[in-house]
Amino acid sequence: MAWAQSLKRHHARAWKRPTPCVKGVRWKKEEGKKARREDVRNQAVATQAWNLAVLTSVMAVATWKAVEHYGNQVVERKKNKVVVVGSGFAGVRVARRMQADVTMLAKRDYFEFTPGVAHAMVDGTHKQLTMKLEKVVPNARVEIIGNNDVVDVEDGYVHVHGKTFAYDYLVLATGSTYTPPLKPSKIEERMHVRERAFRICAEALKDASNVLVIGGGVAGVELAASFVSRYPQKKVYLADEHDRLLYKLPREASAYAEKRLRDKGVHLVLGERIKSRGMNGRTKGFECTTSGNTIEVEAVFFCSGKKPNSEFGKVGPGEPLLEWNEKGYIRVNECLQSTRSGRIFVLGDVREKQEREYIAGQAEREADYVVKCIHRLLDGKEELPPFRPGAVRLSVALGPSDGLMVNGDRLVARGMVVPLVKQVIERWTIWFLAKRYFDFHRRMAAHLAPTLA
Ligand SMILES: Cc1cc2nc3c(=O)[nH]c(=O)nc-3n(C[C@H](O)[C@H](O)[C@H](O)COP(=O)(O)OP(=O)(O)OC[C@H]3O[C@@H](n4cnc5c(N)ncnc54)[C@H](O)[C@@H]3O)c2cc1C
Repeated sequence: MAWAQSLKRHHARAWKRPTPCVKGVRWKKEEGKKARREDVRNQAVATQAWNLAVLTSVMAVATWKAVEHYGNQVVERKKNKVVVVGSGFAGVRVARRMQADVTMLAKRDYFEFTPGVAHAMVDGTHKQLTMKLEKVVPNARVEIIGNNDVVDVEDGYVHVHGKTFAYDYLVLATGSTYTPPLKPSKIEERMHVRERAFRICAEALKDASNVLVIGGGVAGVELAASFVSRYPQKKVYLADEHDRLLYKLPREASAYAEKRLRDKGVHLVLGERIKSRGMNGRTKGFECTTSGNTIEVEAVFFCSGKKPNSEFGKVGPGEPLLEWNEKGYIRVNECLQSTRSGRIFVLGDVREKQEREYIAGQAEREADYVVKCIHRLLDGKEELPPFRPGAVRLSVALGPSDGLMVNGDRLVARGMVVPLVKQVIERWTIWFLAKRYFDFHRRMAAHLAPTLA
């Protein structure tokens, strides 16, 4: 059957070959098609080039207009005066990002990363948590005011230690006070003094064979965990008047913290109010609980008793420009403005808000919002969108290799990843603060506007 196979092959080849036709006519047809195809391609290329040219011109004009617009705004805003009182998370964030003539009134010449403090108290090393204010806010004029100076707030003016500062907008971000060394005491105005306080604290903890930590919030839990991880042979009591630790966080988080701390050997004294005698640091004494039990300790650390720094004076006739609640927190409207003045913004730990929102992340979120609001007002826009607090995100380290992370009402992570994340955030924040804040499009506009004008 070789002939049949050969016939099959012939047919197959014939199928692939051009149809037997008059070769010249076919060639011409093909040429015509090719030319048409080329024409179509050329037309497409021409159209694309035209479109590109139009798009580029539109973009160039838009960029020009945007640069002019933003540039003018930046130049205009530079004339406006914004006074920021406070140099914590909220104040620093506002001062760094504000496009205006910014003056910062601060009690200390450094910024401190508070979430790392509990660990530093045990370690005695505090340097990595701080940064000089002159580096952190190079765009602002920093005025260090005395610890006993009262900031007097008047409409358009702030008076402090014999000086007067005019403002178009005032930002109050004076935060809260805790028992030292959780937050600096009045004498710890300079970085080196603050550092010495941490060394003394670490030595006191090292010498004590048993320690009582009062307050089962983030600071107390972190301090107790850090201490017991470093000195597992020593006795640590952690007391709180609530029936669970971290009472502002979800129950799941409390249960996890309690279990892990008990596993490490921390004695939890919950639902008891401690009648204290003594001070932080090298205090030898006894602490009595309301149940009548006595705890014998060599060192006591208070990690409770947060108070707002809201003692602002009042000058001039009429009502004060601020309103305080019964605990001393300043009342604000939904745009974080003082209930009595639209030119005063209040944010961070000093303002009245929900208990669980007194954290650094929230203070920074509020700062971003306030910067946007003030920029809008300086640009002549009167309507401000209301502030939305968003979900509370918080990480609690339970020693160097354990911790928990909360997002809103959920415990989202636990274990050794948490202290790692916390350390990365700490390093990143301090590293980032040493760099100038770069608001790309506004900076570009500010640089290009005079050239283009
Ligand atoms: C030990 C500890 C651990 C914490 N851990 C965490 C954590 O892990 N995560 C978290 O999110 N939050 C944590 N927090 C809470 C967090 O630190 C605060 O929510 C945050 O610091 C609030 O920022 P703030 O800018 O409002 O105030 P602050 O940070 O308190 O800053 C206020 C600043 O204003 C200055 N000031 C006060 N009065 C005046 C005045 N009259 N004139 C001028 N300046 C003034 C103060 O000196 C201070 O520099 C912790 C707090 C503590 C104490």
